[in-house]
Amino acid sequence: MLLVCARCLLAAQSPAAAAPQRFAVVLDAAHGGDDLGAKLGSQSEKDLTLALSVRLRSLLAARGISVVTTRESDMDVDADHRAEIANHAKASACLNLHAAPASGKNPPAVHLFLSSLPAAKDAPLMPWRTAQSAWVARSTELAGVLNSALTQAGIPVTLGRTALPAIDSMACPAVAVEVAPQLPADAQDTAGADGAVFVAKVADALAAALVEWRSNGAPLGEKQP
Ligand SMILES: [Zn+2]
Repeated sequence: MLLVCARCLLAAQSPAAAAPQRFAVVLDAAHGGDDLGAKLGSQSEKDLTLALSVRLRSLLAARGISVVTTRESDMDVDADHRAEIANHAKASACLNLHAAPASGKNPPAVHLFLSSLPAAKDAPLMPWRTAQSAWVARSTELAGVLNSALTQAGIPVTLGRTALPAIDSMACPAVAVEVAPQLPADAQDTAGADGAVFVAKVADALAAALVEWRSNGAPLGEKQP
């Protein structure tokens, strides 16, 4: 099967070549296994990203959105495999989930990142390592929808661009979502009530954004039946 060998082909679909059959969201919980990610009080980033993925998956499923996840347990998944999963799913949106402690006295926030690859002209097949470059415009639109839903929920948002190995090979609208809950100064415990409440609020806002994306931003102008 063609997509099994995506790495050998070193190519991924461009927006023009893509013809999504259905609206599917890929949730990519970053880190896992030996890759703990950032230290968040008593928790590791890898656990928080998985918890967010699980929560968001059920919120989306309840809204009739099909979801594909890159991991369902505490396992390490390499960047290529994450991109293979997203590309195989012909994702209408992929959220690459990260977490970080809110810095200093900053309130809890969400940082949205786009790939730092320069936007490239559409071609029938894009090189695997830079597939996202043909999708920068769509990913920027997706970030805009996420930004407004989070802002509406009263959550401070920052937008940036960075090198993201998994996203760089993704041939779909893709945004890294870094949740930054406030760590209680004394307990240093994000599993505590404040952190959990914030993460739940973020999940609700992301679900609302993806419903909006389905109705207004369906792939290539296609509307959901
Ligand atoms: Zn991370």
